Amino acid sequence: MTSKRVIAVFGATGAQGGSVARAILESKSFTVRALTRDVTSAKALALQNLGAEVVQGDLNDEASVEAALRGAYGAFVVTNFWEHHSKEKEVCQGKMVADAAKRLRLKHVIYSGLENVKRLSGGKLEVPHFDGKGEVEEYFWSIGVPMTSVRLSAYFENFLTLWKPVKASDGDYYTLALPMGDTPMDGISVADIGAAVLSIFSFPEKLLGKAVGLSAEALTVQQYADLFSKSLGKEVRDAKISPEAYEKLGFPAAKEIANMCRFYQMRPDRDVKLTYCLNPNVRSFSQFLEENQGALQGI
Ligand code: NAP
Repeated sequence: MTSKRVIAVFGATGAQGGSVARAILESKSFTVRALTRDVTSAKALALQNLGAEVVQGDLNDEASVEAALRGAYGAFVVTNFWEHHSKEKEVCQGKMVADAAKRLRLKHVIYSGLENVKRLSGGKLEVPHFDGKGEVEEYFWSIGVPMTSVRLSAYFENFLTLWKPVKASDGDYYTLALPMGDTPMDGISVADIGAAVLSIFSFPEKLLGKAVGLSAEALTVQQYADLFSKSLGKEVRDAKISPEAYEKLGFPAAKEIANMCRFYQMRPDRDVKLTYCLNPNVRSFSQFLEENQGALQGI
């Protein structure tokens, strides 16, 4: 009996890596080597119970990453900008993994990348949590690592937290505040990316060396609001906030998100058709709301 090929999964205790690890474990087509800084955490132990090999790995510790990648066929790589809010740190972590993947001759890396908005806009617009990932994408390809970049759209899950409808102060309705104007914004449930990533690992030929924009659908803020209204039985309206007003909201990532929406208004390439090919069970926003009624109770 031949042993299964190993995929090292970064961020396996988190949203993206967790979705990828679970999809691979369910398929039984590869062995999952889950990286975490704390192999004793509840999430790490849950992955172990599902059949993953859980190993210590820290993106700030090159030796641990090299040890975790040794002997692997491939890796799913995600870095977490929001843990430190530093583009430089995210770039440093990503390039370190790219160098290790090159040295160890991994056959296929799937990197959770995004566009280098600063470069694409000729320096006019900066979105540090995109720009750094864009730099890392370019680095992976420049040193010749066989890599597919998956560029995700906004998680639908954001609408349960940071972007959830807020009660209006002047009436009996709720508002959704995202500075998108009337331009549709792509979205996807992060729970659905795992199956798409598994398809890319299973049939790598067409997507090696490419960037793939994943999206379940693109809706205007009013369309997201209408689906909320239907699901909650309460009126939800587009707050019609401008990027200029949004960046003055005062919370730490307000400027970053305003600039992200300015970029989203340029409609970066996200491919709904390809996403459905890679994961035929990808959820629409209305299905997502249906399945998350519990989380919406507090609204
Ligand atoms: P998450 O759920 O918060 O999980 C973060 C993961 O990163 C954890 O598994 C954590 O593992 C791991 N991690 C953090 N620092 C690490 C380190 N130094 N070494 C090793 N592992 C480390 O995050 P996520 O949502 O999966 O991914 C976050 C990324 O998604 C961000 O960079 C963001 O820009 C990007 N993104 C988000 C959206 C969105 O709409 N929210 C859309 C596209 C892209 P341990 O704690 O177990 O070590």
